[in-house]
Amino acid sequence: MPASNAALVGSSRRTAQRAATVGVLALQGDVAEHLRAITATGARPVPVRRPAELAAVDGLVIPGGESTTIWKLAAIFDLVGPMRERIGAGMPVFGSCAGMIMLASRLVERASDQETLGAIDMTVRRNAFGRQADSFESDIDIPDAGGPPFRAVFIRAPWVEEAGPGVEILATEPRTGRIVAVRQGQALATAFHPELTQDNRVHAIFTDMVRELS
Ligand code: GLN
Repeated sequence: MPASNAALVGSSRRTAQRAATVGVLALQGDVAEHLRAITATGARPVPVRRPAELAAVDGLVIPGGESTTIWKLAAIFDLVGPMRERIGAGMPVFGSCAGMIMLASRLVERASDQETLGAIDMTVRRNAFGRQADSFESDIDIPDAGGPPFRAVFIRAPWVEEAGPGVEILATEPRTGRIVAVRQGQALATAFHPELTQDNRVHAIFTDMVRELS
């Protein structure tokens, strides 16, 4: 079944609506996988490298990769100010893994020249799961996604060490009990990489947010 048809399964109410334009910050990391997952939810994906491209999207995904590198490149590409402005003005944003780190207001194991966008009132610990579990998969219960547990891929993943009172906890990792998916207002973040599986339910949560909020 082509991705465009797969996207419509179980989401017929979306088909009647206009296609939301969802940008993927395309500086470093697993950009192509997010573009694919966004397409599968019925939204229109576009890579974002320039302020003019950011200005044209209804929502933004910040992919997994290396948060220190993404931050440096965002500064070089003059995207930090525009991202802060759009997020401050209510643009929906979703960060996976390094993207979760980028959205945090506070970091543990922060690199010396690393800053964040502060979209979610949380403290995130980088590389939290430690060397022995550098990469692993875990079945995560995400009630908001509906259906069976979500097979979550963790790669040198962070966790949420502390979440402020306005932060909704969407999922915890069962082995450690750590918070690995959160939402605050128009901002969504996962410590794992939903873009690396064919299960698009987390992206569907986000593109629904984009349609509702933009
Ligand atoms: N450990 C990485 C960082 O600090 C994140 C890893 C990932 O995105 N897979 O940015």
